[in-house]
Amino acid sequence: MTTSDSAENSKRVNETEHLFRALVTATSDVVYRMSPDWNVMRQLDGGDFLTDTGEPISDWIEKYIHLIDQHHVKATIAEAIRTKSMFQLEHRVRIADGSIGWTFSRAIPILDDSGEIIEWFGAASDVTPRKRMEEALLHARDQAEQQKKLYEIVASNTPDLIYVFDLNYKFTFANPALLTMWGKTWDEAVGRGLLDNGYEPWHAEMHEREIDHVVATKETIRGEVSFPHATLGRRVYDYIFSPVLNADGEVESIAGTTRDISEIKENEQRKNDFISMVSHELKTPLTSVISYVQLSQKRATQNHDEVATGMLERAGKQLAKMTRMINGFLNVSRLESGQIHIDHKLFDLAALMKEVEQESATTISGYNLIFEPVKETWVSADKDKISQVFNNLISNAVKYSPPGSAIHVGAIAKGGRVKVSVQDEGMGISKEDLPRLFERYYRVKEAEAKHISGFGIGLYLCSEIIKRHGGNVWAESQPGKGSTFFFDLPVVQPEHK
Ligand code: ADP
Repeated sequence: MTTSDSAENSKRVNETEHLFRALVTATSDVVYRMSPDWNVMRQLDGGDFLTDTGEPISDWIEKYIHLIDQHHVKATIAEAIRTKSMFQLEHRVRIADGSIGWTFSRAIPILDDSGEIIEWFGAASDVTPRKRMEEALLHARDQAEQQKKLYEIVASNTPDLIYVFDLNYKFTFANPALLTMWGKTWDEAVGRGLLDNGYEPWHAEMHEREIDHVVATKETIRGEVSFPHATLGRRVYDYIFSPVLNADGEVESIAGTTRDISEIKENEQRKNDFISMVSHELKTPLTSVISYVQLSQKRATQNHDEVATGMLERAGKQLAKMTRMINGFLNVSRLESGQIHIDHKLFDLAALMKEVEQESATTISGYNLIFEPVKETWVSADKDKISQVFNNLISNAVKYSPPGSAIHVGAIAKGGRVKVSVQDEGMGISKEDLPRLFERYYRVKEAEAKHISGFGIGLYLCSEIIKRHGGNVWAESQPGKGSTFFFDLPVVQPEHK
C-alpha cells in the first residue's frame, strides 16, 4: 500500500467516523467520549437528560453514575477494555434535574492503525419511563402476589366453605374446607358443576337458578340448605352468593361462602323444644286456676262480696294475660316446626274488622280507639289468624302509647290488594329498630320501651302469618310522635267469590 493510498484510506475512515458520529449524535439523548482507560471523560453532550461536561473530568463516575451501579459499571468497562469490544449496560444515572433516572449506554473503542484504543465513543438513551413502568409493574405484581397469598391463607384456614362459580355453574375455585366436605381433591372437583360434585338434582337446580338471579340482578343472595358432609353426615348450611363484576360492570363470576350452622340450629331446636314443653306444662295448671277463679268470682258475686269480686276480676285479667303469653310461645314453636297451617276461607275483611272493633271495645279502655269505615273487601285467608294479627297490632298500639291517645285502624283496597293500618300516637320506633321489629324475640332496647313487659314474639308471629298469606308487613314511625303498622293481603275479586 502506498503512502497516498494510506492517506486516502485514513481520510475515508475519518469521513465514515464523522458520519457515524453525526448519526449517533442525532439519534441519541447523550453522546460521550472517554479516554482509553475510561479514567477521563473527555466530553459529554447530555441533551436534556444529563448535565453537559464543559471540559474533561475524571470524577465522572461519582458525578453521573448512581452509587448502587458504580461497581457494575466499572466491571463492565474493565471487561470492554480487556476485550476491546463494545461497552453496553443499562444502569441508573443522576439526571440533569438531580433525580435518578435510567439509561441504556453503549460505547465503542476507536482504534489506531496498530489496534490500540485511542478513545471510546459512546451514546446513551433515556430509558427512565420504560424502567419506571417495569418497576411499577413489578411492584404491582408483587403486591398482587402478596394479596393472593393472604387470601389463600385466609381461604385455607377457615372452617367456612369458600368457592367461585363461572357463568356455566362450574366451580373455578374451592377452598380446602369445601374439598373436605365433598371428600374430593382439587383436580377431581374444580372445573366441574354441582351435579358432578355430588349435589342432588333439586339442589343443583336450586343453586343454578340462584346463580342466574345473581347474574341478572347483580345482587347478593342468601339461603339455608342441608347437605351431606363426606365425614360428618348431614349438616345445615347458611350460604351467600355474591356477584363478581368485571371492569364493564358485568358479572363475570359468582363468589360464594357457606357456613355450617348445624350447631346453631340444634341449639335453636333445643330452645324451641324447651319453650314448647314449658308452655304446655304451664297450660294445664293455668287452665284449672282460671276455672277456680271464675267459680270463686261467681260465688263472690252471689255473696255480694264486692271486694273479693273486684280482686278476682283483676286476677282473671292477669291470668288472661298469662294465657296470651303462653299461647304466643306455643304458636312460635308450632311455627318453627312447621305445624302452623293456614286455613283459607273467603270472608269480608270489613266484617272481621267490625268483630275486632266490638271485641276491642270490651277489652280496651282508656284509649280513643277509632275504626275507620271500611268498604266490603273479600279475602281468602285464615280468619282466626288475621284476627290474631289485628289483636297483636292493636294491643301493641295500646302498650306503647300513653293512655287517652288515639289509635286509628283502617283498611283501603287498591290494585288487587288491601292495605290495613294500625296507627298510634305513642313513643315511636327509631330508624335502626324499624327493620328488625319483626325478628323473633326482638325487643327495642330504648329505656322507654324497656320497662314494658313482653317477649318480642307478637310482631314475629304477625309477620309469619301475613307472609304465609302472600302479604307483607311493615312499619313507619316518627320517634316521639307515633307509629303506623301496615300489612297487606291479596283481594279476591267479587266475581271469584
Ligand atoms: P313485645 O311487645 O312482646 O316486646 P312485639 O314483637 O309485639 O313484642 O314487638 C317487638 C318490639 O317492637 C317491642 O318490644 C316494641 O319495642 C316495638 N313495638 C311494637 N309495636 C310498637 C308500637 N306500636 N309502638 C312502639 N314500639 C312498638
